[in-house]
Amino acid sequence: SSHIAPRVPSSPGESEEVMAETNGERHAFQAEVSKLLGLMANSLYRDKEIFLRELISNASDACDKLRYAAITQPDLLGDDAALAVTITPDSKSGVLVVADNGIGMNREELIDNLGTIARSGTEAFVKQMAESHGGDGQDEQDGQDGFAAGLIGQFGVGFYSCFMVAKRVEVVTRKPDEAEGWRWRSDGTGSFSIAPEADAARGTRIELHLRKDDREFLEPLRIRTVVKAYSDHIGLPIWLENDSG
Ligand code: ADP
Ligand code: MG
Repeated sequence: SSHIAPRVPSSPGESEEVMAETNGERHAFQAEVSKLLGLMANSLYRDKEIFLRELISNASDACDKLRYAAITQPDLLGDDAALAVTITPDSKSGVLVVADNGIGMNREELIDNLGTIARSGTEAFVKQMAESHGGDGQDEQDGQDGFAAGLIGQFGVGFYSCFMVAKRVEVVTRKPDEAEGWRWRSDGTGSFSIAPEADAARGTRIELHLRKDDREFLEPLRIRTVVKAYSDHIGLPIWLENDSG
């Protein structure tokens, strides 16, 4: 079972920064992803908290993949063999970080995994939306949302669900056997950018710049409750760090 316990904060708080495109390349999201993101951003879905379940599930998968790869390549674990998920709220900047020290993603994997719909569950979700609403999932507001909420609950929508609570998401990630990492950024409207990140830790760090109305997810008690409710079956340690703000 997951144990969520306080620990000394290790990372400094994230400072708010403008989306400067100094050395980043911009990529358009696949059209279906844009549709899905529009739906997420406008969601009145009551159970927004499931974004945490999705991020923890991905972190757990990433650690499983590294553990498996390390059977034949023990060096991949280096001096960081304690695989875990770490959740760090920063109330000062309004950023919630969900980090793992798992398998990470290279540039190509980032573009494929977080730019297209490669996942059958999400594909089915978008298809269902299109079939029931003549192709566009975000034109009508009323009634539409209740319908979308049903689908979100039914399919689960993985990584993209974090745009239900975040106005901007940054992903910093590095593979165990690569020296350089990557930073992915998006405000969930049409495109994302990717730039090299020199000092990325192994694994993946998801930085959620929360919407004003969703800052409740910075509260330790709220985080604990959500983790207990949805991620209790996760075999990986889940640490809640002290507020870094
Ligand atoms: P699913 O988990 O069902 O594949 P998601 O939308 O949750 O769908 O994630 C899409 C993909 O992005 C994952 O399959 C994985 O390849 C990649 N990914 C997401 N989060 C992480 C992570 N923390 N570490 C490594 N890869 C990740
Ligand atoms: Mg997932």
